[in-house]
Amino acid sequence: MWTEYTIDARLDEATSSISARETVIIHNNSPDRLDAIQMRLDQNVFRLDAERDWVIDESTGGAEVTRLVVNGMPVDLSPASLSRSRLDLTRTSVRLDLVRPVGPRSTGKLEVDWRFRIPRDEHNLRLRMGRWGDSVLQIAQWYPRIAAYDDLRGWDTLPYRGPLEFYNNYGRFDVTIDVPSGWLVGATGALQNENDVLTSAARDRLSNAERTDSVVAIIGFEGPPHRPAAASTRTRWHFVADTASDFAWATSDRYGWSATGGRVAGRGHVRLQSLHLRQETARAQAVLTDNRRAMETYSQSLTPYPFAGLTFASGPERGMEYPMLVMGLGGAHEVAHMWFPMLVGTNETWYAFMDEGFANYLGHLTQGKNSERFSALDGIGALYGGTAGSPTDLPLISDEAVRYPPYSIQGYSKVPQMLSMLGEIAGDSSVLAAVGEYVRSWRFKHPSPWDFMFAMNAALRRDLNWFWYYWLFTTASVNASIDRVVRSANGHVITVRQDGEMPSPVILRVRMASEGPRIRPPREAKVIDSVTYELAYPVDVWFGGRRTFDVTIDFGGREIEQITLDPRRRIPDSRQADNVWSRR
Ligand SMILES: [Zn+2]
Repeated sequence: MWTEYTIDARLDEATSSISARETVIIHNNSPDRLDAIQMRLDQNVFRLDAERDWVIDESTGGAEVTRLVVNGMPVDLSPASLSRSRLDLTRTSVRLDLVRPVGPRSTGKLEVDWRFRIPRDEHNLRLRMGRWGDSVLQIAQWYPRIAAYDDLRGWDTLPYRGPLEFYNNYGRFDVTIDVPSGWLVGATGALQNENDVLTSAARDRLSNAERTDSVVAIIGFEGPPHRPAAASTRTRWHFVADTASDFAWATSDRYGWSATGGRVAGRGHVRLQSLHLRQETARAQAVLTDNRRAMETYSQSLTPYPFAGLTFASGPERGMEYPMLVMGLGGAHEVAHMWFPMLVGTNETWYAFMDEGFANYLGHLTQGKNSERFSALDGIGALYGGTAGSPTDLPLISDEAVRYPPYSIQGYSKVPQMLSMLGEIAGDSSVLAAVGEYVRSWRFKHPSPWDFMFAMNAALRRDLNWFWYYWLFTTASVNASIDRVVRSANGHVITVRQDGEMPSPVILRVRMASEGPRIRPPREAKVIDSVTYELAYPVDVWFGGRRTFDVTIDFGGREIEQITLDPRRRIPDSRQADNVWSRR
């Protein structure tokens, strides 16, 4: 499904309301005949009578639809007619039955006029959008949008209750936003009419800022309020996003504007900018500097940043991502979201781990220097050993849509833990390269968890189905231990035990005594330092069903001082105290 939105929106600053009209062309690229169109009215989550999993600061009337035309046929919106047709426009997800269905490979059309009041959020309740007072406005989930349609579930009909995120079609957005002159607007897409909304001095600063590594103030807080040359009392800001899954924006008469440029291979410079309040100026500068680096790192590791620019807009929400726009002065995690789910369009409602988990994985890789970036994954895999199978832990594949409480473990933590272990099996740089191949194969598409698993198997040229089975379909963990170490004629026999349900490779770090016969390490041993070596055996040693595995090693007769199983703590071992053996 591909959707083309043309939206004309106007802010009434006196009532903090938006009134708008849109036309949506719906391209049905599926082989199915559509007898209905599923329309989302997310603003209805703020109605007094809405079902929601949120505490809100202010209820509004939700989205008030004043005109609705479906495939050229006006819908009678009088209460009597709505109740006769059982069309409930107070819900967050509404089914519009079609008199004439939309056939495969053909188009439908929706025309809607609507208005809503922007909900107040003075307590920073993390509602993704809202306003501080009447002049700092973050606006998202704001337009009637066509639900996603796919070959797994058909229309996505889940209601919007707050905490769970989104699943959207890709499409084109052409949006005009009418605000009082002097208010700045940041949005998804590329600004089309800089000449109308910025002074020539500001335009010059902006084009210079893109090409520098420093952060430049485009519009500061000193001097007279910003006005473009031909200003009247209102200004219309025009944005176009050619391929995006959503459109959000922010506006204020209290914003300052800073910008810099990120270097992206094959594209030159990409603009990063902030719309921030006076007291946030220093923080905005630091955020843009860090985020430019994150954009460059992810562009190198995965695929070049694919969008026109990236804007961070201050307000009550401090970290929520939309295509090309982040609510709040967020960090590298929010930048990573431009790849997951903005470029790789996963169903976040059902599979939060496919966006939050990967954003967290990338977040780990931007800590520290490039040369040692993978060491940030050490210790992460082992963490899952402590939570696996606990009452709040569920298999990743389970329907998170109806299970909100475990969201944080499933959504955020398990993917970095899983990929920490996978790095120990397949090598960290190979895993990152495989994730990059997955991104390139599924850019602007909607992969399921199965598509991810198959893409990784193909990229790594390994059958990792055993690995995906345990991590996605179970809450099993490893329980490995060093059972005993026996001196043999010339060396040692190390017996490793596995009492868990998940198998794992056997990685042993062996530290030799500092004195004794000359060390003659076996050929397969990896040198760590002059007395320390590492031995690795693939997971296959457990596939026959055995619970013990004997490693016979001969280091030329030198005594062993200490043996550590899983030295980088990448394996989710439920009991880690028995992973170390010492001679004394
Ligand atoms: Zn996130």
